[in-house]
Amino acid sequence: MVNIRLLTSILLVLIALQSHHAWSQTYGLALHGGAGYMTPESLGPEKSKAYKDALQIALEIGYSTLKKGESSETAIINVISFLEDNELFNSGRGSVLNAEGQVEMDASIMLGKDLSAGAVAGVTTTKHPIKAAALVMNESKHVMMAGDGAEKFSKQNKLEMEEPSYFITDEKRESLKKMQERNSQELDKDQYKGGKGPSDVLNSKFGTVGVVALDKDGNLASGTSTGGMSNKMYNRIGDSPVIGAGTYADNATCAVSCTGHGEYFIRLAVAHEVSALMKHREWDVDKAASHVIHVELENLGGKGGLIALDRRGNVSAPFNTPGMFRGWKLSDGREEVKMFKD
Ligand code: ASP
Repeated sequence: MVNIRLLTSILLVLIALQSHHAWSQTYGLALHGGAGYMTPESLGPEKSKAYKDALQIALEIGYSTLKKGESSETAIINVISFLEDNELFNSGRGSVLNAEGQVEMDASIMLGKDLSAGAVAGVTTTKHPIKAAALVMNESKHVMMAGDGAEKFSKQNKLEMEEPSYFITDEKRESLKKMQERNSQELDKDQYKGGKGPSDVLNSKFGTVGVVALDKDGNLASGTSTGGMSNKMYNRIGDSPVIGAGTYADNATCAVSCTGHGEYFIRLAVAHEVSALMKHREWDVDKAASHVIHVELENLGGKGGLIALDRRGNVSAPFNTPGMFRGWKLSDGREEVKMFKD
């Protein structure tokens, strides 16, 4: 009798565990480190390894944050702050320079649970622009702040600040010089198509960072941070801080972060377009994301890519450049870091 009772209890526990597993929320993140004209040849083995290692560490930072039960918002901030500190990427320190030789950074963040969002544009002294974007979202009644006002708000709220020179690296200074000597504009020259072109110029053509995350509560969030495009005009603002263009998140559809030639991404409202196709045509995330990059962006003549993640943990990462630094790590065991075409 006792044994039958014991057996029944064990059985019930096993059934409960099984059904919990079946219903447990997948969590995890996907990230990009910019789309561009890199190929294994233009990057070389040493740099390839450096990027791969950095992407791997970034994924671990995000995944361990989510594993602890912290929010997708916290994961975005932790991962992007790390990438902003890493001068390999075009965000924070190591940002590309504008035509005047200065760094002007843009960043944004959005939460899928309530569509709250924050963004900063053209900041020059905020150490982690993604934190300033989150500050605008959480501590102001606005969505976007620019320039001096955004810096003042960051300072008042005790974010870390740096001198403008902190963000400028020799490598980015050198590539601006070479780019200006050739009078070229980033990402839009046919001569660089297919990764053929001077390697120093090619290697400067990527590095924006973006993260999409899904936490244990099933909440999506996305964030993007960039120095924009090399040799851009003073005060030019790209898609990255524009909610709906470079960044979008809605629990009903997906979280998206874009990278590429920002002017095209703004005109197509790329990040929102992916979400809208899922919402109104009931397409899955990969169909929607691929259509926007390979049909809509391509038809307009734009170059770049995006990462998108839906609430069930489906990832899509289409791009129409030779490469895009990207990776993902999900609680169901999917894990990948890639840089070039498959
Ligand atoms: N989208 C960014 C911008 O236009 C640049 C990039 O992603 O490479 O500012």
